Amino acid sequence: MLRYRRIFGEWMLAVGIILILTGCGSGKAEQYGSVDTAMGTVVSQTLYVCGDREEAESEIAAVMELLTRLERQELSWRIQDSEVARINALSQKEAEAIQGQENAMREGMVVPISPVMQQTLQQIWQVSADSGGALDVTLGRLSRLWNLDALSAQATEISVPTQEQIRTALEDAGYERARISQETLELPPGMQLDLGAVGKGIACDRVGEYLRSRPQITGAVVAVGGSVITYGQKPDGSPWKVAITHPRKEGSYLGILSLTGEHYVSTSGDYERYVMVDGVRYHHIFDPSTGAPAHSGLCSVTIVCDSGLLADALSTACFVLGPQQGLALARSYGAQALLVEEDGTVHMTDDMKEIFIAQ
Ligand code: AMP
Ligand code: MG
Repeated sequence: MLRYRRIFGEWMLAVGIILILTGCGSGKAEQYGSVDTAMGTVVSQTLYVCGDREEAESEIAAVMELLTRLERQELSWRIQDSEVARINALSQKEAEAIQGQENAMREGMVVPISPVMQQTLQQIWQVSADSGGALDVTLGRLSRLWNLDALSAQATEISVPTQEQIRTALEDAGYERARISQETLELPPGMQLDLGAVGKGIACDRVGEYLRSRPQITGAVVAVGGSVITYGQKPDGSPWKVAITHPRKEGSYLGILSLTGEHYVSTSGDYERYVMVDGVRYHHIFDPSTGAPAHSGLCSVTIVCDSGLLADALSTACFVLGPQQGLALARSYGAQALLVEEDGTVHMTDDMKEIFIAQ
C-alpha cells in the first residue's frame, strides 16, 4: 500500500510537470481580441489563448454570453425577468396596493432573493454603511427621475426635476431602511433598486471566475465600460497596461496603470454621461443627500483592488465623498485609489503611485 502510494505520488508529480511543460501546445499563447457591446456598454476583450482562432472565438463568445445572462437574469432593472426587476416590481405593486390607505404599513415588505443576490447586496450594504450612505443602490426612483443614463452623447438639454419631485423620489430611498436576511430582502414598499454603480464590477468578477475555469486562457484584459479585470500574464511576462481616461481632454489619457496578475480596476467620472446646461454639468453620479448630481470637487476616481464589485462600489462612493473622505474610504478597504479634482489636482494612495505612470 505504501509502495503504491509512493509510486502513485511520483506518477502524479510527473503528470503535474508534464502538464506545466506542455500547458500551451504550440509553446506560446496567441493574442485574440474583440470589441462588442453588452450591459449597455462597450466590452473589449484581449485574451491570450492556447489554441486556434476558432477556440479563441468560442472563449470570447462565452464571456459575452455570461455578461448578457448576468444582465438579463440578475442585474437589469429594465429587463422584466431579471431578479432586480422582479424585486422592483413587487415593491411597486405593494406601494400601489396600499396607496391612499390610512395607517398603511410603510415599512417592511419582504421579498425572496437568491443566495447570490443576498451576498451581493450584503457587500454593497457594507460599503454604503462605511461611506455614510454615499453609495446607495436604493436610489432607483431618483435615477429614473433624472433619466441621465438615457442621455445621448450629443444631448444639449435636460429636463431638471423640481425640488418637490426630487424630495418625493428620495422618500422611497435609503439603504438603511432595507434589511437583508437569509433568502429575503425587507424593504419599504415603493423602494426601487438600481445596481448601475456596481453592475460592471460584478461583471468583471464573473469574468474572473470564468477565466480561472479555463486553463487554456493564460492571460486576459477584459473591460466592461469603466470596469476592467486583468488576469494571468502575457507570454513575454510584461505587465498589463490599463489606460485611465483624461476627465477633461476627450480622447486623451491621464496615465497608465501597470499591473501584474489579477486585479480589478474601476473608474467613475462625471464625463461619462453628462450634459452641460448654462455652465452646470449634469452627470450620472448622484449625491444621495441632495438627490442631485454630486459636486464634491472630483471629476474622476479610479480604484484598483482584488474585487470587481468593491472596485466599482468604491469608485462611485469616493466620487460622492470628495478627495479627503474618498481617500480615507479607499484606504480603509486597502484599495489603491487615484482621485482627480476638477482643477486637475491628482490625489493618490501610496501604493497607487507605484503602479501609475502619468502621460
Ligand atoms: P458608476 O459609473 O459606477 O459610478 O455608477 C453610476 C451609476 O450608478 C449611475 O448611472 C446610476 O445608475 C447609479 N448611481 C448614481 N449615483 C449613485 C449613488 N450615489 N449610489 C449608488 N448608485 C448610484
Ligand atoms: Mg461604480
